[in-house]
Amino acid sequence: MSIKSSRCSCSESASRRNFLGTSLGVAAAAVVGTAATSEVAFAGSLSKAQRDKMTPDQILALMKKGNKRFASGRRQDHNYLRQQRDSAKGQYPAAVLLSCIDSRAPAETIMDLRIGDVFNSRVAGNISNSDILGSMEFACKIAGAKVVLVMGHTACGAIKGAIDNAELGNLTGLLAKIKPAVEATQYAGERSAANYAFVDAVARKNVELTMAAIRRDSPVLAGMESSGAIKVAGSMYNLETGVVDFFA
Ligand SMILES: [Zn+2]
Repeated sequence: MSIKSSRCSCSESASRRNFLGTSLGVAAAAVVGTAATSEVAFAGSLSKAQRDKMTPDQILALMKKGNKRFASGRRQDHNYLRQQRDSAKGQYPAAVLLSCIDSRAPAETIMDLRIGDVFNSRVAGNISNSDILGSMEFACKIAGAKVVLVMGHTACGAIKGAIDNAELGNLTGLLAKIKPAVEATQYAGERSAANYAFVDAVARKNVELTMAAIRRDSPVLAGMESSGAIKVAGSMYNLETGVVDFFA
């Protein structure tokens, strides 16, 4: 932090003027002067001051906006090298995400996020365990993130595996953590992995149960949520439409 504060305040305010695509400082644009417009508009990473003044709901709103940009093909022209350089001495992410390893659901891309915007924990079926909870506790209590977002997705292979009682090495134990969601899902039609509507219903229930597990198994995070310091939120990403459906 001391290193950052010693840097030129002009370049810092300019390079960090956007968070998740939303301009936070109109005056900063004028300071930039000769820099190329695209580099200025989408450069930099999130500053501590910008992150700290936002509420959990405002952070969620900006992630929703980012997904709208992605899904409509209007994502930002990211200057990743600028973001990398800007965040190298320190990080102030606004949220910690828990999402599936599925190659088609990269959270930063589908919510049009920048380097340094969020912590991201990925595991097949986006279940929690003590290591993931420890990571989330670090993210929120130590590093200052204000949102814990669990994100499931449609057509999830881990969910299908849990429905089918698939068995393979260590995967068996992982799928066992998803099976309570299979059992808890209320569904009148065919309860099989071949029925995508059922698979997606289980995936949604699995997100809800993961949110409940986070609150149950992490007194640290539950306490922070009770005091309003953080918000635990859920969402589902639709592989077909590119849209993230936030539960609230
Ligand atoms: Zn998946």
